[in-house]
Amino acid sequence: MTQHVSPIKRRISKQIMVGNVPVGGNAPISVQSMTNTLTTDVAATVAQIQALQRVGADIVRVSVPTMDAAEAFKLIRQQISIPLVADIHFDYRIALKVAEYGVDCLRINPGNIGKEDRIRAVVDCARDMNIPIRIGVNGGSLEKELMDKYGEPTAEALVESAMRHVDILDRLNFDQFKVSVKASDVFLAVDAYRLLAKQIEQPLHLGITEAGGFRAGAVKSAIGLGMLLADGIGDTLRVSLAADPVEEIKVGFDILKSLRIRARGINFIACPTCSRQEFDVIGTVNALEQRLEDIITPLDVSIIGCVVNGPGEALVSDLGLAGANRMSALYENGERVGRLDNNELLDQLEARIRAKASQLDQE
Ligand code: SF4
Repeated sequence: MTQHVSPIKRRISKQIMVGNVPVGGNAPISVQSMTNTLTTDVAATVAQIQALQRVGADIVRVSVPTMDAAEAFKLIRQQISIPLVADIHFDYRIALKVAEYGVDCLRINPGNIGKEDRIRAVVDCARDMNIPIRIGVNGGSLEKELMDKYGEPTAEALVESAMRHVDILDRLNFDQFKVSVKASDVFLAVDAYRLLAKQIEQPLHLGITEAGGFRAGAVKSAIGLGMLLADGIGDTLRVSLAADPVEEIKVGFDILKSLRIRARGINFIACPTCSRQEFDVIGTVNALEQRLEDIITPLDVSIIGCVVNGPGEALVSDLGLAGANRMSALYENGERVGRLDNNELLDQLEARIRAKASQLDQE
């Protein structure tokens, strides 16, 4: 049931604030995504951020490649309540501009800003305005010297690159930052994060970058992030999919749910079905997932096709259904509480699940 706790022992990290969302320390691991609209299309970007917020995004990143995009960011900021991170490469003036417009975090690598006075201008501004920075190293864009030194992106190369940026911030006495060392290869990313986790106490932003399309990318991310999270590494995460960013948030929560790190919404336990099934399990689960997307209360619901595994799964679920001939058995907190007509399962299950969620909300 939902009281199961994760056995994972989390790495101790320093806590920073991204707007009103704490990242690191004992804060819940936050789930973030990034818009893929044109930032200058304010209406489309606001709509996408709101869609991400509806499925639970804690933080959203927006790329700000130009001064026009910075002006658009100002208008977006005014319409959005959750923390926004501006993704900036190289141009320090854009960083200063979005800081003025209320950004909650700057994703900018200090070593890429250029001259010392420009780096100092950005860091001083971040310090004065309480804006954290994310150092984001990516296996696809390692510095040329590091590629020459290591021959290819390696975990050591990613960490050395990250530490160059970390050293710049250290030198300027700025410690409000988090770091990512992403790669599209699972082992490379995992090794880099493990190495980095031993070297700094700042929070880590996890991601398997450019993971791929929806299915393969979700699997790759679940494996990579899962290995790290199981080690206790990671304070915020982004699943990168070549898909609707809304799916990134859903997959991010599914990963945290699977490891019992952070619950949100319904955790469906469903059997794969076989010829013993007494009702259409797959159709029922798919329809319930869609109908109940708005539920944020953590709830374990088992939908099982027959009595082989139905009663057993129901024992460890908040609500459980075990398929039986014509009328399936309904369980609540492991106790059998009634039977539901197999021809009317959907509406009845939806109503029962909603009632259980509001009961838990009031407890
Ligand atoms: Fe088949 Fe029953 Fe197992 Fe589902 S629980 S896969 S219906 S045997």
